[in-house]
Amino acid sequence: MTNKAAKIAKQWLDDADAILVTASNGLSISEGLNLFANDKKLKEVLGDLVDKYHLPNLLTAFVFKYPNQLDYWRMVARVVEYYGNNYEISNYMQDIKKIIGNKSYFVWTSNIDHHFALVGLTNLFEIEGNWFEGVCSNHPAEHSVHYLASKLHEIYEKDQAGTLTEADIPKCDECGAPLALNMAGEDFQINQKQVQAFQDFIQKYEDKKLVVLELGIGPRNQMIKAPSM
Ligand SMILES: [Zn+2]
Repeated sequence: MTNKAAKIAKQWLDDADAILVTASNGLSISEGLNLFANDKKLKEVLGDLVDKYHLPNLLTAFVFKYPNQLDYWRMVARVVEYYGNNYEISNYMQDIKKIIGNKSYFVWTSNIDHHFALVGLTNLFEIEGNWFEGVCSNHPAEHSVHYLASKLHEIYEKDQAGTLTEADIPKCDECGAPLALNMAGEDFQINQKQVQAFQDFIQKYEDKKLVVLELGIGPRNQMIKAPSM
């Protein structure tokens, strides 16, 4: 960015009535979370599961058909412990918070890491869900969404201690069926409160000065980039 462009951007931000932050996986990658990478961090996070199932990256780890559910939840717990429960705010997130300041804002993201919520930016629309939430695999639409942060931490601890059993697999409070992660896929339940809040925000600022920050979104992104344009 040239000096002149930076000055204009600063002016727009100063004059803005509100800020819409749009973000996709480029931001996660900048923060050190790369779902596509086959690097040494993959083994650091997933441990023996990498060799056991020949997992090339985190994305595959989430869609791989494990022969048993315990290994699936081991994988989830290890990932969420590392990138979720132990998440520390990055310089990027600090800068985003600084830019927003006291202005009205909304975050629209396809990132499933829940990092915006973890840093307190909770005016949030997670268009593909996040990996802290579980839905009933038998009644995804009817039974309530479960917040799994502490449950996943417990699974992680038991996994490390070698005491994890089938009884620890997260289940629906209402019917006892196993939970599925509430992320893009057939069981996905979009958060209607988030959808409504997002629509309200857009309506409120449609005729006002709204600055859109686009962070780490690819040029052909149809989910966020195309509609925001
Ligand atoms: Zn259920």
